[in-house]
Amino acid sequence: MVNARAERNQSGNQNFARTPMKRSKNTMKRSARVFLNDLNQGKAEELSFFLHLCQDVLRYFIDLFWARCEMTDSFADLETVHLAVNRFGITTRLAQALAKQAMEIVASQRKKPAGERNKPALRRHVVTLFYHFLKLEEFQGEEFDFAAVFVGSGGPRLTVPFRSTAPINKLIANGWTISKTVRLGMRRGGLWIELIFERERPEPKTEGRVVGMDSNYRNGLVFSDGQQVGQGLHAKIQSFDKREKHTRQQIKEELAREIKKIDLREVKTVVIEDLKRVKDGKRGTFSRTMNRRLSHWQYASAVDLLERRCEVEGVRLERKDPWKTSQHCPACGKWDKRNRRGDRFFCVFCGYSDHADFKAAKTLELLGLAGAYGLRSLPSLTFDSVQN
Ligand SMILES: [Zn+2]
Repeated sequence: MVNARAERNQSGNQNFARTPMKRSKNTMKRSARVFLNDLNQGKAEELSFFLHLCQDVLRYFIDLFWARCEMTDSFADLETVHLAVNRFGITTRLAQALAKQAMEIVASQRKKPAGERNKPALRRHVVTLFYHFLKLEEFQGEEFDFAAVFVGSGGPRLTVPFRSTAPINKLIANGWTISKTVRLGMRRGGLWIELIFERERPEPKTEGRVVGMDSNYRNGLVFSDGQQVGQGLHAKIQSFDKREKHTRQQIKEELAREIKKIDLREVKTVVIEDLKRVKDGKRGTFSRTMNRRLSHWQYASAVDLLERRCEVEGVRLERKDPWKTSQHCPACGKWDKRNRRGDRFFCVFCGYSDHADFKAAKTLELLGLAGAYGLRSLPSLTFDSVQN
């Protein structure tokens, strides 16, 4: 912590973005949350009052846009903004910012099929604060690392000093810039601030291998180039404490450590299954239901971490149709239910045999090499057919 602090002091304010955040396809984003446990009661009350007010305004705008069927992701007109100014007694600037957030929340429903759209419910207390409301600075002194200076404009006017965290120090050390936009939120009565980090996305690699990846709760992540990580994770998870909240944090840390081990230096594309159906974990310490939930969540988390690693390293991540991938033979291109025998794959047509996960990764690699979304579009897919 001391070293990271010294590094930051040397580089001055270079870690902070100079211009307001622009939405760009070439910007990668990460975030890191800090709980404001040291905050004095007066400031905590002021911030939580502000947060509740923002929630009320957001809910008001969401109801309004939903009733109007407005699902565009643009700016609200001034007349609409003033409805909230008059109703809640807030500044135009704050009303504008919250109307924008409400519009984005409503617009997120637009991506869903018409029948599945629901009026978004605000369960969490979160508000995005632009630089009009808050300035992030280095703390002048030894007790803290950062100061969030709330500058008014409709929000509170107070300074919140806070300490850096290991994830924040790591992002800074890896060249990420702190955005001027910050999120403020509350969880179980505890206030938090979330820093948003940005970095330019690297150019996608043009040279390297195309590698398939299949995952299984017992065997971890198996790659078609022979790499395998996370083999021991299942046994480890079963030995964890049963309190789920605690467990998930531990699993995430273990997963992150495993994902870091993957060697992507000679890889340009990783191919995975789209909407993978995750099988239940076998019963161990946990109940069957909890095991099922855990294995789904675990797979989603692993893919999320893999995606982030690929993004940073300029590796493409492609998703493919899982239809018949576990039955397909990469040697002769045919598929059959009987090919799959537990953890083994054995082709009833040509006799090719391999570990089932490794075989599935091979089939995904083939789909990646052929540029096909699924086996349906290429019925006789084999390594020979792709390489010729
Ligand atoms: Zn075969």
